[in-house]
Amino acid sequence: MISYVPIRSSVTCDRCGLQYPENLPQCIHCAKLNDDELICLRNIHGKELTEIKKDHGIFGLLLLLLIIFIILGFSIILIN
Ligand SMILES: [Zn+2]
Repeated sequence: MISYVPIRSSVTCDRCGLQYPENLPQCIHCAKLNDDELICLRNIHGKELTEIKKDHGIFGLLLLLLIIFIILGFSIILIN
């Protein structure tokens, strides 16, 4: 018997910018934090996001170079 897990909808918190389940009255990330702690939370997640974007950029560049090398390799093989 297959049981399905319902997909929970989430909302974005106006205070911290993170997502939390829609059925909860408060954000689970920042409801208990004061303003200083909220700034720390935003800095941590901001750094994580920029690091992820950098990783994706490097990965995309490597993938593009790999595709160019493959195309060049096939064209050299076909020419000879
Ligand atoms: Zn929040």
